[in-house]
Parts: sequence; structure tokens; C-alpha cells
Amino acid sequence: LVERMRPFGTTIFSEMSALAARTGAINLGQGFPDTDGPPEMLAAAVQALSSGANQYPPLPGIPALRHAIAAHEQRFWGLSRDPDSEVVVTAGATEAIAAAVLALCEPGDEVVCFEPYYDSYAASITLAGAVRRPVTLRPGPDGRYGFDEAELRAAFGPRTRLVLLNTPHNPTGKVFTAEELALIAALCQEHDTWAVTDEVYEHLVFDGVHTPMATLPGMRERTLRISSAGKTFSCTGWKVGWATGPAPLVSAVQRVKQFLTFVNASPLQPAVAVALALPESYFTGLTAGLRANRDRLVAGLTAAGFDVLAPEGTYFVTADIRPLGGTDGVAFCRELPGRCGVVAVPTQVFYDHQEAGRHLIRFAFCKRPEVIDEAADRLKAL
Ligand code: PMP
Ligand code: GLN
Repeated sequence: LVERMRPFGTTIFSEMSALAARTGAINLGQGFPDTDGPPEMLAAAVQALSSGANQYPPLPGIPALRHAIAAHEQRFWGLSRDPDSEVVVTAGATEAIAAAVLALCEPGDEVVCFEPYYDSYAASITLAGAVRRPVTLRPGPDGRYGFDEAELRAAFGPRTRLVLLNTPHNPTGKVFTAEELALIAALCQEHDTWAVTDEVYEHLVFDGVHTPMATLPGMRERTLRISSAGKTFSCTGWKVGWATGPAPLVSAVQRVKQFLTFVNASPLQPAVAVALALPESYFTGLTAGLRANRDRLVAGLTAAGFDVLAPEGTYFVTADIRPLGGTDGVAFCRELPGRCGVVAVPTQVFYDHQEAGRHLIRFAFCKRPEVIDEAADRLKAL
């Protein structure tokens, strides 16, 4: 194994899901729903499988899916895209992120990101030989995660190549406000950098509104927007994602992507195209269900004695373990299944400055209400 990948070990999601499987605990660790996505989408996949859509699709994705991605961006975010040159289908958002970083960063270039960060960011940046410059998100007096403007400004420098921004944000549940995005956008323009935005939770916003960075003045031409079907359509195992943006950026991603996976599962592509065109009620129903789950889990964790910051979006709640006598989230999460039959994820592993997240753990609420209630009940035993 090459030197630079040695610190990475096994992803925390595999470790914690294996722990759940081994102990039979309720798995509120890895973020995946325990119900299926829209029946129209599932039927379209079955139909595609049984009607011969089983060979290599075109490199950028099938035209029907690229058109559906463009139409979805127009419908929800007012962004117009040329489906032929400004959209590429990828193996989940994960491949889009990796291909973008590999396509845009020279060795030694710097990537500004916010910590805690989704774990593949660090690995992709490292694979590219680039350097991460994390800015720490911290709980503020207003009950939201925020960042220090001076720290963000200081993270930018002559080697900054891009900002890798996730909003709504995993694991904090933070939805970046228009003002926060405007500050990041101004710094991107001042330092002439790209913005790569991971918006896989774009439809999972409970308080506030999601603003795609690409909609800010001067940002469309420098932003690569990444999303995925996994969260929006409860099909995390399908790994159908995409990147959209100006043609040169999309073409750069495609240049790399063609040698990572070449193309992705052909029968799933027409099905995701069907899902993206579902009526408004599907999307509002998804958000309403998850908002109720969020409230349920926040109430349950609070009753169990955790200090909880209600997330504005995503699948996740972060909880402070200190009121329960915990000091180290990794140790706490390793012991949790034995103590009460629940699995969570320590957020500490998503920080460079690990002390900032040592006492925080993450619970997922993309589960049926009865599962959340059972987990909350078990946690009361702590
Ligand atoms: N980005 C974030 C912030 C995530 O939480 C996840 C996990 N779903 C991904 C990217 C990966 O998405 P996908 O499964 O589509 O590769
Ligand atoms: N995105 C999901 C999470 O944060 C899981 C991703 C994974 O298992 N790699 O839980």
C-alpha cells in the first residue's frame, strides 16, 4: 500500500455496520433508509432489466437520465444545463467527488473544506496528492453549527485550487445560509478557485432553505455541482450520482471518470430518470417524513440525557456525550451496542482537529418511526 493511503484504515461506516451486524444492535450509524424508494422508480428498474438495458451505457450516462437531471435542476433550482455537455452520470456522488478532485488538483494544490467532513473527501484529496485545509464547524450560541470568518479567510492562499463544500452538511445537519455561501463565493472569486459542491441532501431540509452555490452571482461558471439518487430516492445501494456544471468542468470530470469506472449500471439509469421527474408531492412527502423522524430522534436523545443540536437538514443528528459521562466518542460508540443495543458513529473521525469532535457522535434518523422509538427507549438505559 502506498505511504499516503496508510493512515486511512477501514472506513468508520464499514466498521460500525459490521459491529451492528455482529451484535444485532439497531444500526443508527451508517446513513441508509430502512424503507424502499418510490415504487415508480423500482418498477422502471425491473422493466429496464427485463427489456435488455443490460449493456454498457454511453460514457456520460444515458440521454434520458441526463435530460432528467437537467430538468430537475431547472425545476428546483432554476439552473439551466445542456444535457449533452453539462451533465455527467457517475457511480454515486462518491465517484463524482473523487473524479473532480483528481481532475482539478495538481499535487500540492490545496483544497478548502469544512470539518467534520465526509470521509471520502480526505481520501480523494490525498489520492490526488493535494492537501486539505479544513475550517472547523462549531456549535454556536444560536444552536447552529457555524464557522469563524477569519479562519475561513486564512484557509485560502496561493495554492488553493478549490473549495469542497457539502450543504446540507453531513454529519452536522447544517444548511449553509445564503450569507455564508456569499462569503465563500467571494473568497472563491478573489482567489480564482473552483467550487465543488456536494448537495446529496438537497431535498432533505427541515429548517431554512437549500441554496445551491451555482445560483450565486458569478458562481455558475466556477461551480461543479454534485448530487446523487441515493438519498433523494432512498436507494443508497444503487450508487447513481451525477455532476453538473460548465462544460469544461464536466469534461474534466469525465476525462478521469472514464478510467475509474467508465460507465455505471445501465438498468438503474432509466429508473432514476423516472424518479427525478416525480411530482412535487413526492419530494415534499419525503421531507415531511424525515422532519418527523428528526423530531422523534431529537426528543428521544434529549430524554436519554444527550445534549443535542437539532439538525436543519440531512439524515443525521449529532449528540454530545459529555452529559452522560462520555469523553471519547470512538470508545463510546464501540461500547454502545454492548451497553444498550444501539450503533452510532463517532464524528471525531471526520476531523483533522479531532479534539473539536471528540465528544460528539452521530445518529441517523432515516429509519421507520418504530425503529427510532425502540432505539430511543434503549438509550434511556444509559
Ligand atoms: N457525500 C455525502 C455528504 C454523503 O453523506 C454521502 C453518503 N451518501 C455521499 C457523498 C456519497 O454518496 P453516494 O452514495 O451517492 O456515493
Ligand atoms: N453517507 C452515508 C453516511 O454518512 C454512508 C456512506 C458510506 O457508507 N460510505 O452514513
